[in-house]
Amino acid sequence: MSDKNTEVVVIGGGPGGYVAAIRLGQLGKKVCLIEKENVGGVCLNWGCIPSKALIGAGKLYEEMQQAHEIGLNVGTVTVDLNKTQEWKSGVVKKLTSGVASLAKNVGVEIIKAKASFTSPNELKLESSEGTSTLAFEQAIIAAGSSPIEIPGFALDGKAVVDSRDALDWTKVPKRMLVIGGGVIGLEMGMLYQKFGSHVSVVEMTDQLLPGTDKEIAKEIAKACKKKKMDIHLSSKALGYEQGKDGLQVSIEKNGKTEKVACDIILLAVGRKPDGSSLNLEAAGVSFDRKIPVNEKLQTNVDHIYAIGDIAGPPLLAHKASKEGVVAAEVIAGKNVIYDVRAMPGAIFTDPEVASVGMTEEEAKEKGIDYFTGKFPMAASGRALASRHTDGFVKVIAEKGSEKLLGVHMIGAHVSELIGEGTLAIEMGAVIEDIALTVHPHPTLSECLMEAAENALGHAIHTVNKKNNRKAS
Ligand SMILES: Cc1cc2nc3c(=O)[nH]c(=O)nc-3n(C[C@H](O)[C@H](O)[C@H](O)COP(=O)(O)OP(=O)(O)OC[C@H]3O[C@@H](n4cnc5c(N)ncnc54)[C@H](O)[C@@H]3O)c2cc1C
Repeated sequence: MSDKNTEVVVIGGGPGGYVAAIRLGQLGKKVCLIEKENVGGVCLNWGCIPSKALIGAGKLYEEMQQAHEIGLNVGTVTVDLNKTQEWKSGVVKKLTSGVASLAKNVGVEIIKAKASFTSPNELKLESSEGTSTLAFEQAIIAAGSSPIEIPGFALDGKAVVDSRDALDWTKVPKRMLVIGGGVIGLEMGMLYQKFGSHVSVVEMTDQLLPGTDKEIAKEIAKACKKKKMDIHLSSKALGYEQGKDGLQVSIEKNGKTEKVACDIILLAVGRKPDGSSLNLEAAGVSFDRKIPVNEKLQTNVDHIYAIGDIAGPPLLAHKASKEGVVAAEVIAGKNVIYDVRAMPGAIFTDPEVASVGMTEEEAKEKGIDYFTGKFPMAASGRALASRHTDGFVKVIAEKGSEKLLGVHMIGAHVSELIGEGTLAIEMGAVIEDIALTVHPHPTLSECLMEAAENALGHAIHTVNKKNNRKAS
């Protein structure tokens, strides 16, 4: 006989798990949320929130240093990273304690323990207080992901660190080498560049932010160059040794090996779904680089669901939360499925990048005849007035149907603009819907309207392309 029982157990308290637990509580289910570390998971504790807090601080620091250009003299600006870290931890604490109280408010019981399956209907819970068992009718697995490691760069928290370590630094490293020019690598690299690090980035593919629109990747590479970051594309980091001048990292490029000196290596080559602590075999749940699920988010075992990073890409907090709501509603008997047409992504580099839907490269691969429209931030009154003129907005639509296929943006605050593109694709909008919609002036949101008008050949504030929309 089990020590305890519940209707539904949720394993993992990240943005997938805690959202699922709260929704289940709202729907009147008896729920236990099991979390081995902190409620809020990677996103609130060691990912999205602390990184964006520090990135915001870095941006403000940079702007204060440049303020004299517009006649604002603030004197010498210095950084006290201990204080910045204290502030960041305060933000995290506010959010995580808020989530815990929201969960409790709808009757969710939060248990701090490591959970592993002993059968399809029972978990073993291990905590500092001992071991117990929990029987359940249904389960949601939301155990997240862990950093990928590569040969030659074992994480040791000293020479080679991951983003979790780097988010707690109280000293800025003089020279930092980032392995991986993807989202996390570039966000962290640009952050510490602002605080004074000399940053090198080693990326195996031939572009930064692999998978993003190629024009945007080029724009980001330009921004890195402007910030005097060293970017090594099509390059493979092989290993490192301690030399007289710090760490010597060997990099292979075009068949040749070169060495780059640095003081610390940030390994940011990606994350992978992680079910290693769960003893999934005991429940009969399959794991093949992720937990495969159907449109109701059920695993191969009907009463066990999987959501968020552990259920596979894209590894994004809002994807995890959406799946959390769907799984909770399916369990509560609602007739719903996971049916998302448009999954936005936002990258908090400088400038920011945001995108939703197909890139031009994907449209070409799929053989779709498409046309584009573009609007440069430099032509926006609001962008000029706020000194953020780098970047552009690009829209992609299908020739013939004129359906919006994708929106890709680079520029200040574009993470705040992508929601409109997401709604448009989700609603099946045609390009004219965006062009016809009145946008407030002067705002950056006008750039999306102008890009749509440009695609249609009648933008007012930029030169229009000719015959852009005719089918070939
Ligand atoms: C530096 C960084 C920045 C990021 N920035 C963004 C961003 O800006 N936007 C965005 O959308 N995404 C971002 N992400 C990704 C985002 O954090 C993840 O996609 C998201 O946290 C996934 O949510 P989840 O609920 O699936 O898992 P997680 O947040 O990983 O939560 C899983 C939880 O399960 C717990 N757990 C695991 N195994 C067990 C067990 N056996 N028993 C009990 N508990 C267990 C873990 O302790 C963890 O708390 C970032 C990630 C990183 C690392």
